[in-house]
Parts: sequence; C-alpha cells; structure tokens
Amino acid sequence: MLKTSRSGSTAGRRDDLIPGDVPSALAELGVEVLGDDGDNFRIRCPAHLERTGKTDRRPSCYIHIHSGQFICFSCEWSGSFARFVAYMQGTDSAHANSWIASQGTIGRALRLLKGDDRHAEVEPGQDVTEAHLVLFTSPPEAARRRRGLTLEACERFGVRWDLARRCWILPIRDPDGQLLGWQEKSKRHFRNYPDGVEKGNSLFGADVAFDGPLVMLESPLDPVRLYSVGIEGGKATFGAHVKHAQMGLAMELADTIILAQDNDAAGRTARNSIYYKYRYKGAALKFWNYLNTGAKDPGEMTGMEIWDCFDASYSPIRRKLK
Ligand SMILES: [Zn+2]
Repeated sequence: MLKTSRSGSTAGRRDDLIPGDVPSALAELGVEVLGDDGDNFRIRCPAHLERTGKTDRRPSCYIHIHSGQFICFSCEWSGSFARFVAYMQGTDSAHANSWIASQGTIGRALRLLKGDDRHAEVEPGQDVTEAHLVLFTSPPEAARRRRGLTLEACERFGVRWDLARRCWILPIRDPDGQLLGWQEKSKRHFRNYPDGVEKGNSLFGADVAFDGPLVMLESPLDPVRLYSVGIEGGKATFGAHVKHAQMGLAMELADTIILAQDNDAAGRTARNSIYYKYRYKGAALKFWNYLNTGAKDPGEMTGMEIWDCFDASYSPIRRKLK
C-alpha cells in the first residue's frame, strides 16, 4: 500500500484528472456508498486503519459527487480523486491518473473550475458564472458547528465550502444577484476571487428577506451567524470601509440600520464616519453595543451575547443627551 503522509498536501496535484462518473468509478474500486447529502457520497474511510490504528466505526469520509475530491473528517485524510485511486490500487498518482483516464474524465474546462489556485484564474474580462460554484459543497456539520452556523442559515445566504482546501466560500453578488466572485476564508487562508473583484456595490445577504432593523457587519460569516440565532437582518460590507453604494442599498432595505463594525480602532472609525455622513439621510442609525463582551465582532459571541448586544443597540444622539 502506498503510504500517505499526514503533513502532505491536501489539494490535488496539478495534473490530477477528474473522473467523468464518480459513482461508477467508486463501484469499480469496490467502495460502498453509505449515503449522500446531494453534494457528497459518504463512505467508510479506506485509510483509517492505517492512519489511526482503528477501523472507521462511524464513517465520516466524504467524496464530492462531481469532482471526486475527498476528505475524512475523522482522520483528516483528504485530496484529489487520483490520490484516492492511488491508495485503493496501491499505485502512484501517474498510474491512478491513467486508470481514471481509461474510465473517462471530464474535460479540462471543468478541471479549471475545481478551485485549485494554479488553475482557477479567470481570464481578464471573462465573467465568473454560477458554474464556478458547482464544485463547492454544502458546508459540513463540523465546520458549521465550530462557527455556530445552522445549515438553513448557510443555505439562505448561499454559503458554500471548498472540500479540498477546507475553506468557506462566500459569494459576492451585485445588487441584481449576478455573481461577481467570492471570498475564500479559513483560519490559514483568505482571498478574494478573482483577484481585485469589485465589492463596492455588494452587500452580502442583500437578497435575504428580513423584518426589523438591518445590522451592518464587516465579515460575511457574521450575518450568517446572526441568522443562525434568529436575527434575520444581518448584511456584510466585506470590510470596515463602507462604500456609498453599499449604504444606499442598505437604506433602501431598512428604516433602521444598526452599525456593527468590528470592535477595534478601524471598525469604530468607519462606524463614526458612516454615522456623521448619513445621519440625516433618512434611515435611523444606531450603534451595536458590544457591552462588556470583549468580542472583536459578533461572530465571536455566544447566541445570548448576540441578543443582549443587539437589544442594547443605541442611538448615539440620545446617549449624548443623557
Ligand atoms: Zn479516516
């Protein structure tokens, strides 16, 4: 058997092929499919015993239905379909790729979409399309749990997940819903895709219906977090700086806007400047109250803290008069 390395790259190799028909290839390899969530097949992790010394009693290995990329959430074995095939057949990646080729592959065009840094660049002037999102999956439970996000909230905001690189995919859309690109986010990795994508007209979550005030946040995962605890009106501006178009869009959507920029110097500066610029422009502006949570942003808070801070939002004017 080919030894796999824990520290090895989790992404596919540059020339790894994507099988044209993942289910058939799995059947051919003798892998039993235990279930699927619409995006991924759940299987017993074949490398588990070798990697952990234990059999995979509660199978939590997932293979993406289209790309064949896989990950075991228990032992963290992951990679391209070619890596999977090489392991199953006890060969190397060259043999695995020629086996995949003999089974039929999907063309290079789709391979360009698989989210690999070295491949996924869109040519200048070429639009990002919904097809680019196809190979990402629904965010897995373990990742959602770490951030306190419900599946419903993720779906509502169109949040996706890159299985190979284990990062969040946060679509950036213009006010008409047209996809412009996305933000890739994990602890180790952050990137706007394509590079230089224009976010100044985009309010993340603009298409999510809500009652009550709009809560203006910096990071796109924060509205999803708020929605998960029952506050529907969160929208994100992709950073502390708020462009005029973003503020205009927010004022079209709500009469009351709670400014919930990050609890740091940049966030407070941005918040105050928005307040002075827009206080007489029609919408009632309030400040999110961080109380004594010490949190940098609402995404760091417990559900109860989020509600306490939300309920304690205040108008800066009234506070001055006290
Ligand atoms: Zn495993």
